[in-house]
Amino acid sequence: MQEKGSISIHTENIFPVIKKFLYSDNEIFLRELVSNAVDASQKIKRLSSLGQFQGTLGDLTVDVRFDENAKTITISDRGIGMTAEEIKKYINQIAFSGATEFMEKFKEANDANEIIGRFGLGFYSAFMVADKVEIQSLSYQDGAVPAHWTCDGSTSYEIGEGTRTERGTDVILHINEESQEFLNEGRLSEILNKYARFLPVPVRFGTKTESEPDGEDEEGKPKYKSVEVDNIINNTTPAWTKAPSELKDEDYLAFYRELYPYSMDEPLFWIHLNVDYPFNLTGILYFPKVKNEMDIQRNKIQLYSRQVFITDEVKDIVPEFLMLLQGVIDSPDIPLNVSRSFLQADSNVKKINNYITKKVADKLNEIFKADRKNFEQKWNDIALFIKYGMLSDEKFAEKANDFCLLSTMDKESFTLKEYYEKVKDIQVDKDGNIVYLYTNDPSQQDGFIASVKEKGYDVLVLDGQLDNHFVGYLEQKGGEKIQAKRVDADVVDKLIQKDETQTLSLSEEESKKASEIFEKAISRADMKVEVDALNTDGLPVSVTEDEFMRRMKDMAKTGGGMGFYGTLPDNYKVTVNGNHPLIKRILESSEEEGTQLAKQAFDLALLSRGLLKGADLTSFIKRSVGMI
Ligand code: ADP
Repeated sequence: MQEKGSISIHTENIFPVIKKFLYSDNEIFLRELVSNAVDASQKIKRLSSLGQFQGTLGDLTVDVRFDENAKTITISDRGIGMTAEEIKKYINQIAFSGATEFMEKFKEANDANEIIGRFGLGFYSAFMVADKVEIQSLSYQDGAVPAHWTCDGSTSYEIGEGTRTERGTDVILHINEESQEFLNEGRLSEILNKYARFLPVPVRFGTKTESEPDGEDEEGKPKYKSVEVDNIINNTTPAWTKAPSELKDEDYLAFYRELYPYSMDEPLFWIHLNVDYPFNLTGILYFPKVKNEMDIQRNKIQLYSRQVFITDEVKDIVPEFLMLLQGVIDSPDIPLNVSRSFLQADSNVKKINNYITKKVADKLNEIFKADRKNFEQKWNDIALFIKYGMLSDEKFAEKANDFCLLSTMDKESFTLKEYYEKVKDIQVDKDGNIVYLYTNDPSQQDGFIASVKEKGYDVLVLDGQLDNHFVGYLEQKGGEKIQAKRVDADVVDKLIQKDETQTLSLSEEESKKASEIFEKAISRADMKVEVDALNTDGLPVSVTEDEFMRRMKDMAKTGGGMGFYGTLPDNYKVTVNGNHPLIKRILESSEEEGTQLAKQAFDLALLSRGLLKGADLTSFIKRSVGMI
C-alpha cells in the first residue's frame, strides 16, 4: 500500500535553494533532529504521567549512530512515534510549510539559525546534509501500524507501511556527497558535545572503553579489565535546572568545571537565576577571576533553550558589561532565531536584560553586606567588571554606588560615600571643591605621592584599565563638587589651592631673571616655565602635567572617543620654587654655573617622573659625575 504524494510547495527548486543557503551552518541538522527525538521522548513521559499512556515507558535513551559503508546517520528514539497520517501532517505540512514561507522571505534572513527557527525548518534541515531522508516510526497509540516515509530531496515523497516493531522513531539520513565529513566519529562527537551535552533525555553515541576493577593478581595488587560501556554524551540534569536550595558550593564549582574544563581558576562567586514570571529564565552566572583576552573569547556565557544549546553569541540578550561573566542562561522565551534588530526591540529581551542586571547588582550588594572582608579581597578581580557596568549602565551604577570600592595607597578600602566623608574636610580648596588625589602608577609617581602625603592628604590608587574613565564618573557621581587630580597634575600647594598664599622671597626682577635662566637651560618648546612661591622645604623644580589635557589624551588612547586630543602634544609645566635656597644660589652664580645648576635641578625633576631619557639622560649622568 505504497502511497505517493507531492509536498505542497509552489516552487520545484526549493530544496537546492535551501540547501545552498543553509550550507555554512549545516552541522545544526543534528541539533534539530536530536532535539526532536528528545521532545518525542519527553512527550511520552508526560502522557504516561497523565495516565494517557498505559504501556511501559522502558529505556528512553536516544541513539545516534552512523554507518560509514551505508553512508547513513540514524537518530532513533523511543518517544511517541508517528502514524502515517501524523507524518503527513507534521512533516509534510508543518515542517514543509515553513519552507514555503521561507521561499518568500529568505532574502531578508541573515543566517541559517535564523531561518531554521523562524520558519520551523527543524526537521527540514536534514536536507542540508542528506540527499534522501527516511522515517521509520511506530506510534504509541493502540493498534498503530508502523509507517515508512521517504523523500529524496525533491518535492515528492513516498509513504507506506514500515518495519519498526518498537514504539518510537528512526530518522535515517543518507548523507550526500558534499557532507561526508559527518560520517566520522570525531566530527559527530564534537557536534553532539556542542549542542546536546545538557539535553534532558540521555543521548547515546555508540560505546566507549572504560577500565573496571577485576580482582587481584598473584601479588595481591588490584587488576583492571577493559569493558565497553554506553557512551552517554549528556548530563540530563545540569546544575541550573535544579533548585538553588538543592545545591551546595561544591556543586556550583563542579558545574563550572564541567562547563569550562580547560579553565585554570575557580570562579569568585555565582548567581543562580530563576524566574518564571513575566518570562521563563533559569541559569547560573559565574564571576571569573581577572582574565586575559583569550579567556574572554573562550569561556563565554552559553545560551540554551530548554537545555538545547543555541549559541554563545549572547550580545543582544545580555548587557555588554555582563559578557565578562561566564555560565549559562536558559530561556524558552528568548526568540532565539530571529534577526539581531528584532531581538533588540523585543520586549522580552529587554526585560531579561534588566532582570539580569538587577540580579547581578543585588547579589553583589548582598555579598558586600554579608562579608565585606571577602568582598574586599576579591575587589581587584571584579573591579574591572563593576566599573564597566557603572560606566555603561545607569541602573546598575545606581546600585553599584553602594558597593563600589576605592582603594588608597594605605591599602584601605572605602565606599564612595565613606571616602567622601573621609576627605571632605581636609581636601577642600578655597572654592569649596573636594579634591580627590589619585595615582595611576604608584612607583612612577612616588615623589609626588610622598609630598602629597606629607601634607596630610590621602591618595587613591586608580590604576585599572577603565580608571581613566572612572575618574570622570567619580567627579560626576561620587558626591558634591568633586574634582579628581592625579598627584603629578600640579605642585602640591596648587593641587588643592587653599586661601593662604606664600610670599615670594624674590623681587620681581629676580623672579624674571630666574625664569629666563631656566627657560634657556631647558630650551624645550613643550615645557612652560613658571616661578612660584612654594614652601622652602619643597623641591626646587617640579615638572607637572595638566590634569584635564592629560586625561583627555589618556582617554583618546584607550578609545574613549576623544581622538582629537590624542593628536595634541603633551602639556607639561615646569614650576620653579622661588623660595628654594637653590634659586638664590643660581641667581648669584656666574652664567655658566647658573645654567648648569638649573639644568641639573630640571633633570632631577624629569627623572622623578621618568621623563629623562636617551641623550638627555646620558648628559645628566655625565654632569652629575662631574659634580661629585
Ligand atoms: P518543530 O520541532 O519546531 O515543531 P520540526 O520540523 O523539527 O519542527 O518538526 C515538525 C514536527 O514533526 C514536530 O513538531 C513533531 O510533531 C514531529 N516530529 C519530528 N520529529 C519527531 C520524532 N522523532 N518523533 C515524533 N514526532 C516528531
